[in-house]
Amino acid sequence: MKIRNAEILCVGTEILIGDIVNTNAAYIAGKLALLGINHYYQAVVGDNPKRLGDAVNAALERCDLLIMSGGLGPTCDDLTKETVAKCMGRKLVFNDEAFENIEKRFALQGRKMTENNKKQAYIPEGSTVFGNTCGTAPGCAVEDFERGKIVIMLPGPPFEMEKMFDVSVIPYLSAFTNRHFESKNINIYGLGESAVEDILRDMMNSSENPTVAPYCGDGEVRLRITAGAESHEKCLRLIDDKIAEIRKTPVAEYIYGIDTDLPTAAVETFKEAGKTLACAESCTGGLIAKRITDVPGSSAVFTLGAVTYTAAAKSKVLSVPMETIEKHGVVSEETAKQMAKGVRLLSGADVAVSTTGIAGPGGGTEQTPVGTVYVGVSTEKGEYAVRLMLLGDRKRVRLLASSFAISAAMKALKS
Ligand code: ATP
Repeated sequence: MKIRNAEILCVGTEILIGDIVNTNAAYIAGKLALLGINHYYQAVVGDNPKRLGDAVNAALERCDLLIMSGGLGPTCDDLTKETVAKCMGRKLVFNDEAFENIEKRFALQGRKMTENNKKQAYIPEGSTVFGNTCGTAPGCAVEDFERGKIVIMLPGPPFEMEKMFDVSVIPYLSAFTNRHFESKNINIYGLGESAVEDILRDMMNSSENPTVAPYCGDGEVRLRITAGAESHEKCLRLIDDKIAEIRKTPVAEYIYGIDTDLPTAAVETFKEAGKTLACAESCTGGLIAKRITDVPGSSAVFTLGAVTYTAAAKSKVLSVPMETIEKHGVVSEETAKQMAKGVRLLSGADVAVSTTGIAGPGGGTEQTPVGTVYVGVSTEKGEYAVRLMLLGDRKRVRLLASSFAISAAMKALKS
């Protein structure tokens, strides 16, 4: 089936009465332009099953793709799936994968799941399900190929809807259009999402093809550039031109790669420079070494990783002077510097990094609270250390500290 035209129907009394602005419709409309799908009508309907059903039926008389947002929540006024299932002659069936995702989201947030949340795992029979990586309600596409109709239902919260659209809906819809789609991600480290948005806001708002969308997570920002065109080559040209444009902005200095991750970029950077890397870890417990050695080919650049957890180990293995530890403490700038220096001399590597800190949940003091991590860097030019204050649980503190250290190792090569 080829989609010729689409409509957007947003559900929610709040939108109807002007409490919130319908940004979802604007977002979806922009994406339909990118997809090359004509779009002639947009509507908003309140949380009323009769009027919602009428709006769905009326839209399906005119268009072959109806994209809806809102009303997928767990409460009894969330009626979108029930109504669409009725209009399309489908039953609602329990979807195990959707339920697992809901359970996972609740566990992640430490919240207790209530019985009505189970409702969100019911999907019209035979639908294509779109996972929700930012919330609980899954999205879905209900297809009726005989009639040549597709109804897509997406969650109301813009953050959830936008991510689902980019990650799942665009690839899904590309099978029903004559257009090609390509995406590339610009990997950014050291600049927060709001700072990136501040610099690129005008470009992000005005770019329709390719689109530029930021995503953040685990202390990094990713800019996803998506282009639609009649050929694969044209898509890549559009994307590469946009990347070149972004490289002319102040964001450029924080870009560490395209479609990569920090450890892979670090291994490549060291390989290209013909230099080697070592690390001495305390609070990260080997995570830096693990992430680097996860990268195939890292043996060409990685020489040694030492996990020195106690003060005695730091002194014995890395030759950190006991006086340094006694005078400044195990978690200190001086100790971090000496750890990095020690492992560099021991390994003969060109660059060495170290971590010493308090990952929690216990062990924090007023002066050195949980989340304090010192990252040390040593090269033949000398040593320096940076104090980080990281937020999150033990796992996150360790991950963020290891990312900082890997990024610092790359920077040391360039300075
Ligand atoms: P939830 O699982 O959070 O209940 P839902 O799919 O049922 O999600 P709604 O309850 O309809 O979504 O909307 C949740 C919130 O998302 C609204 O309170 C509003 O802040 C926002 N929202 C919903 N629809 C739109 C829209 N069209 N444009 C902008 N924001 C919207």
